[in-house]
Amino acid sequence: MSEATETSVRAEVRAWLEANWSADLGLVAWRNMLADSGWGAPHWPSEWYGRDLPPGLVPAVDEEFQRLGAVGVAKAGIRTLAAATILAHGTEMHKRKFLRRILTGEDTWCQLFSEPGSGSDLAGATTRAELRGNKWVVNGQKVWTTSAHHAQYGLLLARTDWDAPKHQGLTYFILDVEQPGVEVVPLRQMNGHASFNQVFMTDAEVAPEFMLGALGEGWKVATTTLMHERRGADALRAWAQGSTREGRIYDEERAEIATVMEPYKWYPQRAGRVDLVLPRAEATGGNADPVLRQEIAKLLILSKTAEWTARRARTAQEQGRPQGPEGSLGKLVSSHVARKAAGVHTLISGADAMLTAEDSPLDGVIAEILVSTPATSIAGGTDEIQRNIISERVLKMPKEPRVDTDRPFRDIPRNIVG
Ligand SMILES: Cc1cc2nc3c(=O)[nH]c(=O)nc-3n(C[C@H](O)[C@H](O)[C@H](O)COP(=O)(O)OP(=O)(O)OC[C@H]3O[C@@H](n4cnc5c(N)ncnc54)[C@H](O)[C@@H]3O)c2cc1C
Repeated sequence: MSEATETSVRAEVRAWLEANWSADLGLVAWRNMLADSGWGAPHWPSEWYGRDLPPGLVPAVDEEFQRLGAVGVAKAGIRTLAAATILAHGTEMHKRKFLRRILTGEDTWCQLFSEPGSGSDLAGATTRAELRGNKWVVNGQKVWTTSAHHAQYGLLLARTDWDAPKHQGLTYFILDVEQPGVEVVPLRQMNGHASFNQVFMTDAEVAPEFMLGALGEGWKVATTTLMHERRGADALRAWAQGSTREGRIYDEERAEIATVMEPYKWYPQRAGRVDLVLPRAEATGGNADPVLRQEIAKLLILSKTAEWTARRARTAQEQGRPQGPEGSLGKLVSSHVARKAAGVHTLISGADAMLTAEDSPLDGVIAEILVSTPATSIAGGTDEIQRNIISERVLKMPKEPRVDTDRPFRDIPRNIVG
């Protein structure tokens, strides 16, 4: 596939789809065919359900799927982070056991990283894993865990060595979330949804072969997951739309979206819904107000430049070049856009923006925007953390003084007893 061109790839995928695609197939059966053919994840290695295609050619494959209305592999949610991490660090057994079922959508994953005392300071995790006999035994608490309430597996960051410095005492595991030692408790957010959970682990068990990466290398493996999370923030915001077409496979896909995408239902609102600003300004007559017009113009300029910057980053990635500063700026700028959009929606709707009943602006969607946009500044690394990254790694400014990396973790003062 190394000399593949867009024309040859389009011809090849079109021929394969025309020979194999049918809306009467079951969703899992079809996705197994995609895994076998490599067309479901064509940028993955050919020995693991892919075709070694350069990422730049994947959009052409997607377009051919859309042209026929063919359903793709399961992509939404933490499963994409699980796949990327397993592909980079997993053993042969991990790849065989998990990758196919990630593509078919049979398994749902969650990310067990954040804890009450370690979110931004992720390397300060105090959930402990101890080797007892031939099992790792896990005790501790995670929080903010999206989708844990319907996940089979969790990407777990746990402390295995309290005498090593902070970043070196962590190990990465694949945890069976459905075992008795794991209790998942949903949290209700201020926008009314319950996407996150607290996860309590009490003598939960992990067999040694489900360690991902080497003992003490959890931070390195977690960095792979986080890189993909920040890069994928845009993709996650693209709300999966079920097709309106008829056929068994579309019914099954709609049912899947209803369950798997439930925690992400409010994600478009979280991004600020810039798309609703002009129609709302026209509908309310706000577009005649000179002050409001200026604010709308500022928002649209910010949003467009953010979009172009993101496209530059994506193109660099597709062409195999380093992303440069655009990658780091994208996450931070999306927070600015979301906040500004919430402000403009408030200016357009006035106090009515707070209403949620049926006769409220857009049936409560505007209110949902106002209480959802703060999440953009927190998820996947807060604005302040992004600023630290930009100043230290992009602008090469002096690093923040650290007093917690030069001594055993157990000697670092913490606000939670570990
Ligand atoms: C929508 C959403 C989905 C999420 N899903 C998951 C998930 O599935 N799994 C998971 O593990 N986690 C998840 N999270 C958690 C998320 O990663 C954390 O909330 C985030 O990393 C911040 O950590 P924290 O909430 O503990 O805040 P803290 O780290 O306690 O930060 C509190 C405040 O202090 C500031 N601050 C902290 N350190 C510094 C510093 N060094 N310099 C300057 N300011 C600083 C922060 O910017 C913030 O304003 C999710 C969060 C959201 C909002």
